[in-house]
Amino acid sequence: MNGSMLDWPLTLDRILVHAERWHPDQAVVGVASDGGMQRRTYAECADRARRLSAALLAHGIGPGDRVATLGWNTLPHFEAWYAIMGIGAVCHTLNLRMDATQLAWIARDAGDRLLLVDPALLPVAEAVRALCPAIEEVIVLGAGTDALVAAHEPARWGGFGEDQPAGLCYTSGTTGDPKGVLYTHRSNFLHTLAIVQPDLFGIGAADSVLPIVPMFHANAWGITFAAPAVGAKLVLPGARLDGASVHRLIAEEGVTMSAAVPTVWQGLLDHLDHAGGGLAPLRRVVIGGSACPPSMQRRLADHYGVEVRHAWGMTELSPLGTVAAPSAASAALPPEEARRLLQSQGRPPLGVDLRVISDDPAAGPDAPGRLFARGYATVGRYFGKDAPATDAEGWFETGDVAVIDHGFLHITDRDKDVVKSGGEWISSQGLEAIAAEHPAVAHCAVIAADCDRWGERPLLVVQLREGEDCSDASLLEAFDGAVPRWWVPDGIVRVGAMPLGATGKIDKRALRAAYRGHLRAS
Ligand code: AMP
Repeated sequence: MNGSMLDWPLTLDRILVHAERWHPDQAVVGVASDGGMQRRTYAECADRARRLSAALLAHGIGPGDRVATLGWNTLPHFEAWYAIMGIGAVCHTLNLRMDATQLAWIARDAGDRLLLVDPALLPVAEAVRALCPAIEEVIVLGAGTDALVAAHEPARWGGFGEDQPAGLCYTSGTTGDPKGVLYTHRSNFLHTLAIVQPDLFGIGAADSVLPIVPMFHANAWGITFAAPAVGAKLVLPGARLDGASVHRLIAEEGVTMSAAVPTVWQGLLDHLDHAGGGLAPLRRVVIGGSACPPSMQRRLADHYGVEVRHAWGMTELSPLGTVAAPSAASAALPPEEARRLLQSQGRPPLGVDLRVISDDPAAGPDAPGRLFARGYATVGRYFGKDAPATDAEGWFETGDVAVIDHGFLHITDRDKDVVKSGGEWISSQGLEAIAAEHPAVAHCAVIAADCDRWGERPLLVVQLREGEDCSDASLLEAFDGAVPRWWVPDGIVRVGAMPLGATGKIDKRALRAAYRGHLRAS
């Protein structure tokens, strides 16, 4: 028997239409590529996006066609998203930290027909196009899209099913070639409804939301859908993500909620150390993409009154997997224990299923193991591939090693990052959390270095804060009593600047390539 409810496809155009209808005057502001501020309302953005849709249709773009974007989080990029998705085409966000050869490989794999690009990135886009003749045209976000908006009447949106693909995002490809994840309207729509909930990102119409996480990193973790969905003010930071710029934007645009990877928050905290000042009216930040050091969480909470929501996710999960939020149970715990729980990666929302499987059949229920996920917003198969990305029951192997403790997920490592010493696992993330406590440390990473006796041993790589110095002994002291003796790193490497990967996380692959043999050489 069928249900008798209205057939109302969950398509993403409805999000901006909703904002236009119910929050028409709410502000959407963005730092433009020349550094100036652009200001529009949701009603203006929706009208402009529909006109841009008409230009895409006039070009011959139709449902399912891939249109690539290469840009920072800006107003023209935001409008282009909805223009593309509103007509059933697929918005393929390219990662601007990749070089032209990598981008061209991805654009070819995706079959991109158009490339919309930030003015500052035009030379890269032209280089990509030269390598990828299937791209019919490069259009500049701003000057190019403004001209198209001016030349067209608004198009009609919708009229397609919720299982129509809406967005395409490639994983960073740390193992093998990058793989495309093709989100549907339905998966992103439901993901939007999930992340605005109070125990997740907790976003409402009174918020001013700053997604620092790029739109090309798993749809800015969904925030560029969530803000219009609830009528929040949206602040798009453009290309300047340094501490001083982020600090200014928070104050000037009254930002109450923001999201970014830990390296961005570290930049902001370093800036505040030198420049002084507070973070009001910021009240909550989501930190994820890599583990948030407990010391960062404490500094934001205790010094600046900012609540940290530690989140775990991945491109393949749209991306939200878990968030650590207070609960009645955590409130009843002694403060230090409650804090420890909230430093974990937290719990999944309804619609995300997780399980941990240990390779050791004798291991207890809280032993670390391989983490699997499934849900309505989990990848089923990668773009262009026939083979499923999951097992027969729909479980997707995340590649992370985790423990579920009292219902809270603790990621202990990426399986490639775990240090296997004498057959036992040492959590690189556990060691990093401790090293990050040292006041002289700006960034740190623990990698597996080759060792004749034990196979691998942990090596600590640190970048000290500007103007700071400290001895190896003082760095190693922090591990005393905090971890078993055999976990303590066997060596320390100091670097001037940590290598960062395409999404702003510390690039451990580069560190391994450089320092894997360090313990043998020394
Ligand atoms: P990406 O698809 O680029 O967002 O990368 C996803 C991977 O980032 C995950 O599989 C984890 O290894 C890592 N990651 C994301 N969030 C966290 C977190 N809060 N703690 C530890 N690792 C994380």
